[in-house]
Amino acid sequence: MVTEQIAETAILGNLLESKRNPDLAIYRKVIPAGEPWIHEIGKGQYFRIVDLQGNQAVDTLFYNAHDYSDRYSAQGTIQQQGNIYLTTGTKLSSTAGTTLRTIVADTCGRHDTLGGACSNESNMVRYAIEKRHMHACRSSFLKAVTEWDHGMSKRDITANINFFMNVPVTPEGKLTFEDGISEPGKYVEMCAEVDVLALISNCPQLNNPCNAFNPTPVEVLIWAAEP
Ligand SMILES: [Zn+2]
Repeated sequence: MVTEQIAETAILGNLLESKRNPDLAIYRKVIPAGEPWIHEIGKGQYFRIVDLQGNQAVDTLFYNAHDYSDRYSAQGTIQQQGNIYLTTGTKLSSTAGTTLRTIVADTCGRHDTLGGACSNESNMVRYAIEKRHMHACRSSFLKAVTEWDHGMSKRDITANINFFMNVPVTPEGKLTFEDGISEPGKYVEMCAEVDVLALISNCPQLNNPCNAFNPTPVEVLIWAAEP
């Protein structure tokens, strides 16, 4: 099973390691399992998300830091690269058609842009009525933007990226939520093409295999822009 997973990663992902040294990062933070994180990342800065223990889904949204209505567009990104999975070389497009960031390194090889975020409502519909009150990504996003206090609200929580999450599409077009193909220490790294606001929900989901039924911490790192 593990060999098959590695083979699949190698075929489907554009694997590339980064040359950036974590000791030289200007910002490092571990986001605990199930917690949100919101932070501005300047143009030219490099941003890495590390799946510390493997198989963790990292629900993520990006906004133009100067205009939150100009934000990551799943449709624009898929259309531009002609592929539904994100990996090295992917340019994350915004709703206004600008490139927010480019993925410059990826040691996992698969990141989802179709599966969306879990919510109290989807937990109830997909799993059981008593799951309604379980912690969910949509609530984490809302908590983070409320505390950020820059006028963002529910309407700013749009279709998100799920870094490290494996949601393959079958030949018939069905979405399937599969076991992750990420492993401890795998990472994805991006260069900010404009000043960006990053919003993360380190997914607390316990009802499907996106987190191997065990949410775990991830680390985010930022490096200064290169001269
Ligand atoms: Zn979630």
